[in-house]
Amino acid sequence: MPDDCLFCRIIRGEIPAKLVAETPECVAFRDIDPQAPTHIVIVPRAHIPTLSDVKDPLIVGQMTRLATDLAKSEGVADSGFRVVVNTNAHGGQTVYHLHMHLLGGRRMGWPPG
Ligand code: AMP
Ligand code: ZN
Repeated sequence: MPDDCLFCRIIRGEIPAKLVAETPECVAFRDIDPQAPTHIVIVPRAHIPTLSDVKDPLIVGQMTRLATDLAKSEGVADSGFRVVVNTNAHGGQTVYHLHMHLLGGRRMGWPPG
């Protein structure tokens, strides 16, 4: 759990965030720069830099289940939503602690930018 990782610091409560859910494995909070009416970031408590560094794929399932539960509680499950895991430079990753974006509340475009 690196001292200087932004999301580790949010998980430890050292940096304030709008938490929306906590499970034994994951924490979810509102994105500070929302790109949709609902924009939640779901992170594992364990520091894993990128999706490519995942050793046990169970954690990705746990993150995904939390995303779909939150889509329901946010009221965007039926209208539709998107989950995104930006990975490395061309994927647009800026924070190197694995995270899943849950975006909803508006119609998304395709292809992504
Ligand atoms: P990514 O670009 O996929 O690595 O996503 C990182 C996300 O973290 C971006 O959407 C940022 O807006 C978001 N973010 C950065 N700092 C914070 C913060 N302090 N609290 C909540 N979200 C943040
Ligand atoms: Zn971290």
